[in-house]
Amino acid sequence: MSKSVNSGINPFEVALTQLDEVSNMIGLDNGLHQFLAQPKRVLTISIPVKMDDGTIKVFTGFRSQHNDALGPFKGGIRYHPQVTIEEVKALSMWMTWKCAIANIPYGGGKGGIICDPKSMSEGELERMTRRYAYGISDIIGPYKDIPAPDVYTGGREMAWIMDTFSVIKGNYIQPEVITGKPVQIGGSLGRNEATGRGLAITVREAAKKLNIDMKNASVVVQGFGNAGQFAAQLVEEQGAKIIAASDSKGCIINKNGIDTASLRKHKVKNGSVTNFQGSQPISNKELLETECTILIPAALENQITKENAGKITAKIVAEAANGPTTPEADKILFSNKVLVIPDILANGGGVTVSYFEWLQNLRREYWTEAKVNDRLDTNITNAFLGVYDTHIKHNTNMRMASMIVALNRVVDAIKIRGFWP
Ligand code: NAD
Repeated sequence: MSKSVNSGINPFEVALTQLDEVSNMIGLDNGLHQFLAQPKRVLTISIPVKMDDGTIKVFTGFRSQHNDALGPFKGGIRYHPQVTIEEVKALSMWMTWKCAIANIPYGGGKGGIICDPKSMSEGELERMTRRYAYGISDIIGPYKDIPAPDVYTGGREMAWIMDTFSVIKGNYIQPEVITGKPVQIGGSLGRNEATGRGLAITVREAAKKLNIDMKNASVVVQGFGNAGQFAAQLVEEQGAKIIAASDSKGCIINKNGIDTASLRKHKVKNGSVTNFQGSQPISNKELLETECTILIPAALENQITKENAGKITAKIVAEAANGPTTPEADKILFSNKVLVIPDILANGGGVTVSYFEWLQNLRREYWTEAKVNDRLDTNITNAFLGVYDTHIKHNTNMRMASMIVALNRVVDAIKIRGFWP
């Protein structure tokens, strides 16, 4: 549901419009609506960094904490030149909904630094990250706010943040302050595959509801990256045939089926899915309109629009990417009876395994990959079924149904806790 840093749309306005729509649908009290329309706290910090050439450069960083009625704030930290406070606020609100849908005891948060990480050395990135961690250290913590990776941050940055926080807050190791860490310092097994795995679970459940036999299903994947690859591999394991895939360099099709393990090897070796043996090149437009049972957009936002939505033949669109379908396209797909599994439900596997990582860290107890995957399956299956029932009951699309589920859970928690002082 989130818009990319480059979309040009004010994401916070989009988030507020969605909140308005769902609040109207469930008849939400005006005061509670206003309360949820703003983050609880937004921190802006200046981050002075000594650059490699000896100069001091000052970056701006944010941490937005939207709502913590269900548990500590949770959400990633992104590094990008186009990070804005509005974007961070919107992303923190979407995290509140995503965690509530996944039914994990977290609220929503998000952070970011306006910077161009690709132009910075590792030393500069480390100094910037540690200074940012220091700047937000009073508002994050294992029971307060637990950050995670997002655009252009990963295990390396999470390790620096964990180390900085641990050193300045008592000088003992506190892995539970952050998730997405390398496994050697408390990261969870299964985290890399979690988003794709969660998506494949939602597809499996959707296929059961629509009486689709996965053995006869054909699948198109736009964006054979981290989320797309694992999603493709896991739906293939359910018996489906991957017939087309793409990345930023091009799109390929082979109606006889593409073996995902071989395609992954090909991409590692050649840097792209293009020129894969037995496949033919096609355009991105053709890829999205290819006749198939399941379409998995796993690359960019705004890919399914009012121009192409009517030509989508898939019975299920499972959104691994954030925000791949525009609101106009959503309406067209709904009237054409295409089941869209929305991003805030379909890609919730990532944050769910982040929650498992936190649980493991708190108990200093480490789970096998099988246990992680098993619990993920239970959580995501239940999340899917709850949203599916809501979509039938309210005769609305799965995106609105997800928001209804989320808002009801958050509002219930707020009401039960009450306001004090
Ligand atoms: P990634 O960078 O690993 O993969 C993205 C893929 O999309 C790459 O293969 C890239 O080549 C491809 N791509 C880029 N431009 C394209 C284009 N014009 N046409 C076709 N393909 C193109 O990123 P990822 O982590 O897999 O994330 C993909 C999407 O899933 C993003 O929207 C992200 O926000 C969302 N997501 C990912 C996770 C996660 O845990 N990885 C969690 C939640 C949401």
